[in-house]
Amino acid sequence: MFQKILIANRGEIALRVLRAAKELGIKTVVVHSTADADAMHVRLADESVCIGPPPSRDSYLNIHQIVAACEITGADAVHPGYGFLSENAKFSDILAAHNITFIGPSGDHIRTMGDKIEAKRTAKRLGIPVVPGSDGAVTEEKEAKRVAAEIGYPVIIKASAGGGGRGMKVARTEEDLEIALATARSEAGAAFGDDAVYIEKYLEKPRHIEVQVVGDGAGKAIHLGERDCSLQRRHQKVWEEANSPALNEEERARIGNICATAIADLGYSGAGTIEFLYENGEFYFIEMNTRLQVEHPVTEAITGIDLVHEQIRVASGGGLSVTQNEVRFQGHAIECRINAEDPRTFTPSPGTITHFHTPGGLGVRVDSGVYSGYKIPPYYDSLIGKLIVHGRNRVECMMRLRRALDEFVVDGINTTLPLFRDLVGNPDIANGDYDIHWLEKYLAKGE
Ligand code: ADP
Repeated sequence: MFQKILIANRGEIALRVLRAAKELGIKTVVVHSTADADAMHVRLADESVCIGPPPSRDSYLNIHQIVAACEITGADAVHPGYGFLSENAKFSDILAAHNITFIGPSGDHIRTMGDKIEAKRTAKRLGIPVVPGSDGAVTEEKEAKRVAAEIGYPVIIKASAGGGGRGMKVARTEEDLEIALATARSEAGAAFGDDAVYIEKYLEKPRHIEVQVVGDGAGKAIHLGERDCSLQRRHQKVWEEANSPALNEEERARIGNICATAIADLGYSGAGTIEFLYENGEFYFIEMNTRLQVEHPVTEAITGIDLVHEQIRVASGGGLSVTQNEVRFQGHAIECRINAEDPRTFTPSPGTITHFHTPGGLGVRVDSGVYSGYKIPPYYDSLIGKLIVHGRNRVECMMRLRRALDEFVVDGINTTLPLFRDLVGNPDIANGDYDIHWLEKYLAKGE
């Protein structure tokens, strides 16, 4: 087992990882920018190292500073959290060259899944169902038209190097296609420095369903069921639940086993998420994230398995703590992402939190790094906390969520809490009846 883990992140996820390390009796080091000197994870860690000024590129993305912090403190492993360097293959490789363990998959697996064309090819080879589309990159208009005619309109053009929902264009007719192809390529080139694009069938009303997997790097892997993250705004997840209200047990086992087998065959090490669009009973792979996700606590709630413990165990060569047969799915869990944003316009709202009171009681978990008097720096993501609620079934979970949202107090800044208070009372949400476009339509109506 590791002696000392360095946590290369900030906010709620830094605290989340720190808690897991403490439980396992491992010493913790956190790195932070000058803007985060007062952060909770800095206060709770055994050691902290300031690695630079507020902008992420000078601190949380500064690989040299982070490696230096490992050397100075004698950390033998790094947990990258999510975002920042968590899917940076070069970071994983550099740590390996310094004999420091990256708590995550190999650089090669990160690289394969980071290139969306390569990821889709790999998924297909491993028996994972994919969205019908071009075999690889498409550059010629003639080729694009041939593929689109074959799969049928509408189609979507996506950047191979894409991420965060950027660089995607929908074409409904052959005339649209010419413009869409040209725009997608130039946008991809400008945003990612790589103008490779590919074509997929555009699904009109899918749900976003993702499967949590963990591999031991030695050919064994398990799945921990799925999460439904269909409630999104601008391709950003807002509300996540497990299990998906749309799946039955048989479908869950089928897609879960396909994913676990694929991950085992790949020799994948660590936690990962295989994302699908789901429509008319069919799953279509869109991408794989080779890291811990923001929404991982809903999976923890229904399985009772600590995903960060598993990540650390696997990375240290200790293997998985459970077999697939031992995994049980119990009850239902929902997560709301509390952002420091206006609940309608989503404009960021940094500033000082004058009062912060979190809900409690059975089945309620709050993961947050903020506190009363905390000043939110304007440089980073606006997520200030996550409310995760668990119940024996979805109805109980929703009742508890409504109660917990009522108890939650964040004064001094705007947050997305009022949006969630509206959503728990909505009949479509109560029925689990929504797709990936539901939230945008709801917000547009201004109900
Ligand atoms: P990114 O890596 O940029 O997040 P994804 O491939 O994960 O890109 O897609 C992000 C979102 O875009 C999906 O959650 C979905 O809302 C939409 N999307 C992607 N592919 C399709 C498709 N073939 N049909 C319909 N919507 C899609």
